[in-house]
Amino acid sequence: MKYQSTRGISSESLSSAEIIKQGLARDGGLFIPEEIPTISLDEIKSLCSDSYPVRAAKILSKYLTDYSYDELLADCEAAYCEKSFPDGAAPLVKVHDNIHSLELWHGPTSAFKDMALQIMPRLLSRALVKTGEDRTALILVATSGDTGKAALEGYKDIDGIKIMVFYPVDGVSKVQKLQMVTQTGNNVNVCSINGNFDDAQSGVKVIFSDKDAEAYLNKRGYFFSSANSINWGRLAPQIVYYVSAYCDLLSSGEIELGDKINVCVPTGNFGNIFAAYLAKLMGLPIGKLICASNTNNILTDFLNSGRYDRNRDFHCTMSPSMDILISSNLERLLCFTAGKEKTNEYMKALADKGYYEVDCDVKSKIDENFKGYYADEASCAATIKTYFEKYGYLSDTHTAVALYSAEQYISDSGDNTPMIVASTASPYKFAADVCASLGHKKPEDDLDALALLKSVSGMEISYPLKDLDKREIRFNKTVDPKEMLDAVKDYLNA
Ligand SMILES: *Cc1c(COP(=O)(O)O)cnc(C)c1O
Repeated sequence: MKYQSTRGISSESLSSAEIIKQGLARDGGLFIPEEIPTISLDEIKSLCSDSYPVRAAKILSKYLTDYSYDELLADCEAAYCEKSFPDGAAPLVKVHDNIHSLELWHGPTSAFKDMALQIMPRLLSRALVKTGEDRTALILVATSGDTGKAALEGYKDIDGIKIMVFYPVDGVSKVQKLQMVTQTGNNVNVCSINGNFDDAQSGVKVIFSDKDAEAYLNKRGYFFSSANSINWGRLAPQIVYYVSAYCDLLSSGEIELGDKINVCVPTGNFGNIFAAYLAKLMGLPIGKLICASNTNNILTDFLNSGRYDRNRDFHCTMSPSMDILISSNLERLLCFTAGKEKTNEYMKALADKGYYEVDCDVKSKIDENFKGYYADEASCAATIKTYFEKYGYLSDTHTAVALYSAEQYISDSGDNTPMIVASTASPYKFAADVCASLGHKKPEDDLDALALLKSVSGMEISYPLKDLDKREIRFNKTVDPKEMLDAVKDYLNA
């Protein structure tokens, strides 16, 4: 299996190890597989008796053909082990009627990014060996909170890699900060900056494109790499849990082999829902894919009108991981439906004018598979309350956006196909807003919010968020944005 860029008209074909190492294509495009492997109903049936790591290894082996099955199985077993996922990797919980919650947040940081970031570093580590790389990869991450912690947990103690995370000193929650500054592992470093998330992100970008910095690293046996969500190594593992959820519905007798399911995903960068689309293209019986957004509903508008227009206000919502105006992975969908030439045009228009409009035939192809809905803040809060009171199901703010969107779709369409709703964070990860949604006074302190939510719900606090204030603080350095490179050098020389 080889991969190409979404933009290059006659581009080179690369192996999966090469593209996992490289991340973004040289022409600025994203990597996509040259063909989509298939999964038959018989294969799906036989996966039912496999554990999650085995399901993952079997599905990944269809894409990562330059990795042996044994390598993939070893990595999947290490990534999705019981210690990291004590409640299982992706349990499916029946919420009510035909609505099932696919809980992707039982990993080491209580959010769904763990599903990819627990395995991708292992794939990268092998990619370095496979491509004959003898330098150490230095991963730099700018984070607004969640991605940084998930990356730290994923890369810690992985061979051939070091990771350094920058976060805005006053731009993350107390829980997020505690999670990062107490990070364990001997190849990790964390540094806060005097600035906001954009300052952190621009600072990392400047370092990545600094030729002197590159030479400095090279001389010491390092090269820069990123943990970006557009990396294929993060996307491929996300296909697995949709297939796995289908198997679980089969095993519990909710569906018969071959029956269709629908999927609803709380969407930011369009990675998670694109993985569900790939599962459908492979042959998993999926009907509709419901793309759920918050008040930043640029994708809802795009799916309704065919016009993607980022000339609009940005809103800070209680589902911050979906506060995004540029959904990078949408480029992959455009490439699949419109081809490379048009994708190039659209991306150029987006860069130049801030918008593009797809042709009618492209729009109707997208319509066959996708529907867009969104939940505003009030609907999100009301959904959290209703689901808790009526169904005894406690959801986080991101999942609530999807639950609301799924219901809107069902009432508009009358389509009662079993619906899998991707649940992307533990309710404890956004405890203060969940408490407020349930009708309590919003706690000002994050740690108080954890305790309040526990007493209100009676549900155990997710293990990664327990006793945060009792852990050893390992990192307390703060620098100005212009000193970020010096901080990197200090870390490497320490
Ligand atoms: C990242 C994230 C999302 C959005 O996922 P995408 O793949 O970017 O669409 C949704 N919910 C949570 C909690 C997240 O962390």
